[in-house]
Amino acid sequence: MTRITVIPGDGIGPEVTEQALLVLGAFDLGLEFDVLDHVNAGTFLETGVALSEVDLERIAGSAGTLLGAVGDPRVAGTRYARDVLLRLRFELDLYVNYRPVRLLDARLSPLRRAGRREIDCAIVRENTEGLYTDIGGALRSRTEDEVAIDTEVTTHLGVRRVIDYAMAAASRAVCMVDKSNAVPNGGRVWQRLWRAACAERPDLETTHLYVDVAAMRLVQDPTRFEVIVTNNSYGDILSDLAAELAGGLGTAASVNLNPGTGFGLYEPVHGSAPDIAGTDTANPIGAVLSAALLLDRVGYRDEATAVRAATDRAVADGRCTADIGGSLGTRAAGEAIRDLLA
Ligand code: ATP
Ligand code: MG
Repeated sequence: MTRITVIPGDGIGPEVTEQALLVLGAFDLGLEFDVLDHVNAGTFLETGVALSEVDLERIAGSAGTLLGAVGDPRVAGTRYARDVLLRLRFELDLYVNYRPVRLLDARLSPLRRAGRREIDCAIVRENTEGLYTDIGGALRSRTEDEVAIDTEVTTHLGVRRVIDYAMAAASRAVCMVDKSNAVPNGGRVWQRLWRAACAERPDLETTHLYVDVAAMRLVQDPTRFEVIVTNNSYGDILSDLAAELAGGLGTAASVNLNPGTGFGLYEPVHGSAPDIAGTDTANPIGAVLSAALLLDRVGYRDEATAVRAATDRAVADGRCTADIGGSLGTRAAGEAIRDLLA
């Protein structure tokens, strides 16, 4: 049996995770689910601990984690969400954030010309360095002479390994996105390692775009991209842009991955959405498609393909939640996908 840890988490997390697990349950697979029900804001409020050492070991020893969402208004401004997500990301060195961007149905795209299936690419975001390391400081805080500095960290190893992953993930084309014309120091590292990687893969179409141009091209013609590789902050921004082009927050899936160990933290792109928690209205598709990414990675490619096909079919038939034009609740939308797998 392959052991998968599950963190339903907060807000709509448990609701969408339940549907993802039911979809996985439609197959007779050698997967065992180890549910960490207690990793949530309620526990943090009671005990002050977000993720214990014991939890961390249980997670690290599993083949991957399915996560719903972490975040709660009662713990806003505390280190809670950071403790759970960043701790897992750094301790397990999940240096790739992989987000497939696939248009489920033409009517979901705000792009006038988007045809069904024409948007099918992936964003590979560097997940451990860049601008998000909290290195920097502030001087003369709260005065008119205030100065604040956030340092962007770019390492040879960090850039090389994420470019390597993107190259391996592509079958046709990779586009590297940076801003080396304006951010020259880190930019030189990206440029040099990118050129070296391109030289090793003459079979791929390799292109480079500055991030401003990449944003424009994604809206103009997303069909030209297969894999986009970029740093932490540009990846953050471009993947939300791309998610919206392909159907919205409720349908977007992701995995935080260490390609070396194979461990992945699979999670929908949306957060805990406290405004709709408990109302049976959350779209379960982001969680379901994240579970499909897990199936891909633990050796069940056919099943993953079947889940994606069933999801497309359910959406095409309008058997989905209100955020994407249907009228079903969370449970019924999950059931619609399961029906199509039976
Ligand atoms: P967090 O702090 O955990 O990120 P958030 O308040 O930022 O939570 P998000 O989950 O990021 O909330 O989503 C923003 C809004 O988008 C939500 O308030 C909700 O209205 C909507 N939304 C998010 N996810 C879904 C979903 N799966 N189905 C339907 N609507 C959603
Ligand atoms: Mg959010």
